[in-house]
Amino acid sequence: MGNELLTWTRHILKKFKLRAVKGLGQNFLIDAGAVRRIVEAAEVGSGDEVLEIGAGIGTLTQELLETGAKVTAVEVDKKLPAVLKETLAGYGNFRLIEGDVLKINLAELMPRKFKVVANLPYYITTQILLTLLEKNLPVTKIVTMVQREVAERMTAAPGSKIYGALSVAVQFRSEPRVAFEVPPENFLPPPEVTSAVVVCDVRKPSFEVDEEFFTRVVRAAFAQRRKTLLNSLTGAGFDKEKILASGIDSKRRAETLSLEEFARLSNFLQGR
Ligand code: SAM
Repeated sequence: MGNELLTWTRHILKKFKLRAVKGLGQNFLIDAGAVRRIVEAAEVGSGDEVLEIGAGIGTLTQELLETGAKVTAVEVDKKLPAVLKETLAGYGNFRLIEGDVLKINLAELMPRKFKVVANLPYYITTQILLTLLEKNLPVTKIVTMVQREVAERMTAAPGSKIYGALSVAVQFRSEPRVAFEVPPENFLPPPEVTSAVVVCDVRKPSFEVDEEFFTRVVRAAFAQRRKTLLNSLTGAGFDKEKILASGIDSKRRAETLSLEEFARLSNFLQGR
C-alpha cells in the first residue's frame, strides 16, 4: 500500500505552489501512525483545549480536531492560512492565530487549562519549551516532537553529561518521559536527525523558590559547564562569600546538582 499522507502532502504543496521552508523548521509529518500516536500520547478528548504550535498544512491539527477538542493553532508562515482554510474546512472547533508563537501573549490567548501538542520547529524548540514552562500558564500537558538529542536532555538525570539548564527547567515543573522515537523518513523533507515525542505532565514546581532568581542561578551555573560552581557563579556576579557559605560544595560542577540542591542554593543566595 502506498503512503496516502505523503501523496496528500505532495498534492497540497504542489497545488499551493509551496516548498517546505527550511528556515522555519518545516518538516511535515507524512506518517499517519506517528500522527495518531502523538494524539494518543496527549490523551486529548472533546473536553480539552489544545494549543498547537506550527500547524503546517494541518495534518496533526486535523487528527486533534477529530477528537472533538477545541484547537488553537499558531502558525507564522503567511502562506499557510490559505492552505489550512482548505484542509481544515468545516471544523467548527478550530481557531487559527497567524503569528510568531514567541511574540504572542499566550496567557491572553489560552486563559483556561490547556494542553500543548506540537511537532515543533527545531530551530526554536528550547525557547518554546522554556516559554511554556516558565510563564506560569495554565498548561497541564506538553506533548512535543523534538530532536532525539533534545528529548534526552529534557529527561537527563543529574550527573549525566547532558544534564543542563533545560533538564532542570523541564523537570522542575513537569514529569517528562520519552513516548517514542520517530525516524527521519516519517517527515517531508526528512530532517537530518532522529526525532522523539516527549510527554511532559506539568505540575507545581518541585520546591519553593523565587522562580526568576532560581532560573538566573541555574543558567549562570551551567553557562560554563567545565567550571566549578564557585567560578561560574562569581563570574555571573553572585557573592563569593555566600556561595562558600551555602552548604553546597562550591568545587562541584553544575551538572552534579540535583533539583533540590539547586533550590537550596538559590534560596540561600537570595537570603530566603
Ligand atoms: N504540524 C505540522 C506537521 O506536523 O506536519 C508542521 C510541523 S513543522 C515541524 C513546524 C511548523 O512550525 C511549520 O509549519 C512552521 O511554519 C511553523 N513555525 C515555525 N516557526 C514558528 C513560529 N515562530 N511561530 C509559529 N509557528 C512557527
